[in-house]
Order: sequence, then C-alpha cells, then structure tokens
Amino acid sequence: MVIATNVDDFDTGSSEDLEVEDEEEIVTQVKGRHVESGHKTLLRSSPLYQYILETSVYPREAEVLKELRELTEQHAWNMMATPPDEGQFLMLLLRLMNAKKTLEVGVYTGYSLLCTALALPPDGKVIALDISREWYDIGAPVIQKAGVAHKIDFREGPAMDNIDILLRDETNHGSFDFIFVDADKDNYLNYHKRLMKLVRVGGLIGYDNTLWNGALVAGPDDPLPKYLRYFKSYILELNSFLAKDSRIQISQVPISDGVTLCRRLF
Ligand code: SAM
Ligand code: CA
Repeated sequence: MVIATNVDDFDTGSSEDLEVEDEEEIVTQVKGRHVESGHKTLLRSSPLYQYILETSVYPREAEVLKELRELTEQHAWNMMATPPDEGQFLMLLLRLMNAKKTLEVGVYTGYSLLCTALALPPDGKVIALDISREWYDIGAPVIQKAGVAHKIDFREGPAMDNIDILLRDETNHGSFDFIFVDADKDNYLNYHKRLMKLVRVGGLIGYDNTLWNGALVAGPDDPLPKYLRYFKSYILELNSFLAKDSRIQISQVPISDGVTLCRRLF
C-alpha cells in the first residue's frame, strides 16, 4: 500500500482525514490543491497502454484501419497519425451522435478520416481538408478498398481558405454535426472563431493534441524539442480560451495527446 507523504506540508490536520481510494493510490483535496501519490497519469505507463491496445483496441480494429495504420507506420512522419485508441474513441462519439455531416481539418494519410467515414451512415459526408494531397494519396487506396470513398470530399489547400469558402455558403452555417481539428496548432484559435459558425447547436468540435506531450507544464528551463516549445504558447492560449468560452460545454479528454471536446450550446 502506498502511504501519502508530505500531508503535514499542507497543514490539514491528521492523516486520518485522508480518504483512501484503493490500495495503490491515495488521492485527496487539501485546501483546494489536488494531491496524489503513485503514478501521475495512467498512460505514462507503456505496458498499460500496450495492454489497452491489445485488449480493447486491436481486436476490434477493422482490417482496413489496421492496413492503413501499418502502411502509415512506414512513412517518415508517422508520429503525426491518430493512434488507434483515439480513432476508436472518435468512432464511438460519431455513432453516439448519429453524425451525418462532418469536417476534418488535417488528414495526413487518413487514419482519423477513415475512422470517420466508417462510422458515418451510408449517406453521411465528411469534408476533409489538408495542404498535402501527396500524404492523402498514400492512404487513398485503402480508403477506396474500404468502400467509403464516396463519403469523403477531400479539398487540398490551406484549411483556413477552405473553411472561409464553406462559410460563404450560408447553408453550411450550423450544419456540421462533428468537426475534428488536427492541423496547424498556431491556427486553432482562428479555426475556433470560424468553426463555431459551422458546427450545429448540440454538435461537437474536437481539438486534438491539447495536452501537447505534457510540454504545457514544463518549466522555462526544461529541455524541449523546438516544435513543442514553439507551439506550446498557442495550445496554452487555446486551452484558456476554451475554458472561458460560454458558448460551449467542454471536456479535456486525456486520451492520446489530449483531445478537447467542445459542444456548442447556442
Ligand atoms: N488526423 C490525421 C491522422 O489521423 O493521421 C493527422 C493529421 S497531421 C497531425 C496534421 C496534418 O495537417 C498534416 O497532414 C498537414 O499537412 C496538415 N496541415 C498542416 N497545416 C495545414 C494547413 N494550414 N491547412 C491544411 N492542412 C494543414
Ligand atoms: Ca493529432
């Protein structure tokens, strides 16, 4: 059993006040501060993550998704791909919502796009935006093989321009059930301003990578790869903005690199 330490530091009285949640973990609130002992976030444990993949994800992953995942693994930028546990989560959300019309910003080789297309009904549609057709073309044959290519409207070019084109057509306003944003992080807030007009009331926008590999809480002198350091301030700004945006209900879901779900309220 893990014993809570440093409780006295918080001047809370005796340790008898602690609520023991289970034998491994003691979590309590002390003067508004969250204190915990044991591991920090569960998925910092690689074996546990592997366990999730092997138990709940891989056995239920469609053959075509597996094929696309394995194909993408051979590509130089494969770390950009949506991991299969997150793909599974997105598919569950889409089905729960009965989503029919969706938008994806940032496609790469198309793993999350294929998840979306598979989860949509036969007459569902996903508009997919990316500056690179070359990367989309890597996954396109698998998407074709999956029999869902007719649901996909891929538009090449800067996403902002394509979103502005969508906005010029008023019939698109408030019409998207679900929007997944997984592209240039320094534009997320600019996307948010526009996407709030496109998503329907009650619909969802999911912003990906909102935990930014943990870099959000790194100290100023902590060593960080250049790209993590560069985009960190944009993600911090986004997270603060979303937390205060009264037009949406939010949940910061710590799956994969974090996805913040925003449900439009009005
Ligand atoms: N969702 C994808 C998946 O499941 O594999 C991963 C997307 S990847 C993290 C980011 C993508 O955003 C890249 O394919 C990149 O070309 C695209 N991108 C970056 N900046 C963009 C922009 N300004 N407009 C459109 N696409 C952009
Ligand atoms: Ca991502």
